[in-house]
Amino acid sequence: MENIIYLDNAASTPVDPRVVEAMLPYFSQYYGNPSAIHPMGRLADEALETAREQVARLINCQSEEIIFTSGGTESDNLAITGVASACRGNHIITSEIEHHAVLEACHALVKKGFEITYLPVDRSGQVSAQDLQAAITPQTALVSIMAANNVIGTLQPIAEIGAICRKRGVFFHTDAVQMAGHLSVDVKRDNIDLLSLSGHKFNGPKGVGILFARSEVPLSPLILGGGQEAGLRSGTENVPGIAGLGVASEIAMAEMESEAKRLCKLRDDLINRILADIPGTCLNGHPGKRLPNNVNISFEGIEGEYFTKELSKQGICVSTGSACSSESHEAPYVLLAIGRERELANCSIRLSLGKMTTAEDVNKTVAAICSVAAKIRKQTRVW
Ligand code: PLP
Repeated sequence: MENIIYLDNAASTPVDPRVVEAMLPYFSQYYGNPSAIHPMGRLADEALETAREQVARLINCQSEEIIFTSGGTESDNLAITGVASACRGNHIITSEIEHHAVLEACHALVKKGFEITYLPVDRSGQVSAQDLQAAITPQTALVSIMAANNVIGTLQPIAEIGAICRKRGVFFHTDAVQMAGHLSVDVKRDNIDLLSLSGHKFNGPKGVGILFARSEVPLSPLILGGGQEAGLRSGTENVPGIAGLGVASEIAMAEMESEAKRLCKLRDDLINRILADIPGTCLNGHPGKRLPNNVNISFEGIEGEYFTKELSKQGICVSTGSACSSESHEAPYVLLAIGRERELANCSIRLSLGKMTTAEDVNKTVAAICSVAAKIRKQTRVW
């Protein structure tokens, strides 16, 4: 793996060695069940409560408002289905470019009589606060708009959306899976009622995440059983994973500002050089209001999946970013939603930078992209 340049951090990140170290004792040293009242149980429970406080500091909430889950997908499902089951109203507002975890949870509610409004986005990928305002009805139970998009990196105006929702008395959920740990998130400042985040997107372990639910929000559990997590998520907690998530949150808080600055510089360098050196390219997503680590570019005449495979041969790991699973050949709905024609939408790749990415990686990547793109265009003679 020495010669690999990993630019798929939006899919998953390497676990920080400090996080691994914090997790290790909870596998075979402090292995008690956190619900047990004996000393081994208490040690495990202490780890949960320490992590709860660490994550709470990352998003500025009370630790009692954190529910540990198996990751972003479960948190999104719990937020949407949980509020829909516990609240009056049968209307949910979301956007066309949400992650499948949100979209599928909404689709499932249609069968239960819910009406879903999918807000469109502009060419940069942002929803309009005015559209949201106009879509709220007395039946609206929940608004779910992601903090940052996983494909194109565009940041949504969540503070503005939060203010509208609070004023209209509607609960606001945000999927902050791509943003948390990378940019500052403050649920109090932004009037957020529910928020999802996932450990493996910011150098924590896979299979662990949280749902923040403000104490006033009525929520029904998805998983029933022993009543862990205040009855909102039964099942013995993933203690090592949760301990890791806590430390990843602490590290993110300490390093976020300098890391975001460093990544923005590398990101802009990568974007500017590709756009300048390769004709027939365009940036997808907002030029400024985007995640520090996200680059998404369309290359006329170069099919994204083929390009990704050719770059893999050079040791460069990128993704098309247009499908939730690499097995899926579905239409790149996020790119279509921002108005890209189908052909160009299929000709895009996502490069997502991370803690390990260096200026040298950017140089090598630009060189590889230039030569591979030229080779493919020559072969296909489409361009
Ligand atoms: N939401 C967004 C925006 C994501 O990017 C992802 C994962 O890519 C998820 C939710 C799902 O998170 P997890 O992999 O932790 O289930």
